[in-house]
Amino acid sequence: MKAAYFKEHGGSDKILYGDYRDPAPAAAEVVVRVKACALNHVDMLLLDGRFPPPEGLPHVNGCEVTGTIETLGEGVSGRARGERVVIFPGFSCGTCEFCLRGERTVCLRYGYLGAHKDGGYAELVKAPAANLLPLPGSISFEAGAAVPLAMLTSWHALIAQADLRPGQTVLVQAAGSGVGSAAIQIARLVGARVMTTVGSDDKIEFARGLGAEHVVNYRTQDFVEEAKRWTGKRGVDVVVEHIGGETFERSSYALSRLGMLVSIGSHDTHWGRLDLRHVYSKNLRIVGTNLGSIAELRTVLEYVAAGRLTPVIDRAFALKDARPAVQHVLERRNKGKVLLVP
Ligand SMILES: [Zn+2]
Repeated sequence: MKAAYFKEHGGSDKILYGDYRDPAPAAAEVVVRVKACALNHVDMLLLDGRFPPPEGLPHVNGCEVTGTIETLGEGVSGRARGERVVIFPGFSCGTCEFCLRGERTVCLRYGYLGAHKDGGYAELVKAPAANLLPLPGSISFEAGAAVPLAMLTSWHALIAQADLRPGQTVLVQAAGSGVGSAAIQIARLVGARVMTTVGSDDKIEFARGLGAEHVVNYRTQDFVEEAKRWTGKRGVDVVVEHIGGETFERSSYALSRLGMLVSIGSHDTHWGRLDLRHVYSKNLRIVGTNLGSIAELRTVLEYVAAGRLTPVIDRAFALKDARPAVQHVLERRNKGKVLLVP
């Protein structure tokens, strides 16, 4: 098969396109013919070596995949060749303490499609059959590929972790990202009020269109001051934070008393400081989250199928153009998800 892969760490120039070993399904696995694969920031961390692929190099990125079933491994039942599917990207062991507690995203042996195993920047990818969900006919392969990581993570962050309620205020960092564009819509769906940040003025109308009430250009405005002004000095109930560094620290200053900062990524840096006086005196909650459950993914797909949530697609590149596609994301020129289509 053809794939876009890398043999050494670095920038987009390290991505090669060409022949790659065909995935062979083990027992209880399937091979999926990829129809669309979305890019994510974790791909960039894998590429530049900040999160080296556990199976080593060469490696194929790509954790958000839709496609059709190509080959069934031994012992797989209830699936048919050609079935339209979306792949739930998290792998868990099912037997450790945390899996047994039903908390599979913190499995001791947790892994991601496209990180711990080769992913979807390819014509074919393999995954456990248990990770497949049917892709409803009303959802295109392209739209479906924006759901299983970005939209699911935002859903779990706001619904399960933050327990967001109507009327609460939310600051969503980076409206132009897949996670940001999803979080704004999900917060609006439950009736919360949203402010968000963008890095260029040309994304302001885009963010308003998603449902954000107040949009701040973080390069020219102070988002903490804007959050205070927007909430009458109170601060917001929830921040969705996935940047790290100074943005993480300053996000904590935008919170109201009893507010919650949900940390769902570290796009700029893995490090972030906190002024602990704010944390204890305001009873802040700092909560980490990653992905969500396969049951939540099913729910999110139902909302997408019903037109209540809309995956935001920036553009689709051909698989052979993975290199410019990655560069497009690294330069943060995208509004929503960037896809590869074999
Ligand atoms: Zn486990």
